[in-house]
Amino acid sequence: MQRCGFSAKGLFVMDGSRRSAHANAYFTGLGAAKRVVFFDTLLKQLSPGEVEAVLAHELGHFKHHHVTKRMVAMFGLSLAGLALLGWLAGQSWFYTALGVQPNLGAPNDALALLLFMLAVPPFGYFVLPLMAQLSRKHEFEADAYACAQASGSDLANALLKLHEDNASTLTPDPLYVRFYYSHPPPSERLAAMKPHSA
Ligand SMILES: [Zn+2]
Repeated sequence: MQRCGFSAKGLFVMDGSRRSAHANAYFTGLGAAKRVVFFDTLLKQLSPGEVEAVLAHELGHFKHHHVTKRMVAMFGLSLAGLALLGWLAGQSWFYTALGVQPNLGAPNDALALLLFMLAVPPFGYFVLPLMAQLSRKHEFEADAYACAQASGSDLANALLKLHEDNASTLTPDPLYVRFYYSHPPPSERLAAMKPHSA
């Protein structure tokens, strides 16, 4: 952590084994509250070198400011959504199309908000791939950082152990990945690591 210029109150271990055998690690938080958390289940499976490589991956998320970038993206999306609501609230077709008569002499803000919340989820579905793509891009960046700071082959091994233990497929459908996956499939991650882990 020192080597990567990361100052935090400590390295956290979560007693995930109480609930399931699922193994994972993650980075979260901002400023003094930022932290890397390992599941105890993951520590049990990995060699010290592999733990270091996973830690380096999580620190890659910190180095690239991924938490902040994610928040900015969420704020941007929220702002766009609220701007759309503001515009729709002034359009009488928005009400009539949904079978409601707006009150022409007064503001319909509460009505617009209710209709908007009912109508938006099916359209929000199409925002999903954008956020998933951003997330997958961040994973590649964190992997590249980890390969520069620790051993790329250790990271590759850790990744394979993680997928084996969580019984997730190594070869998911590419279209499904584009739409839903927040993490690239291991085959793509390993291919991207190859040039680093010679
Ligand atoms: Zn990651």
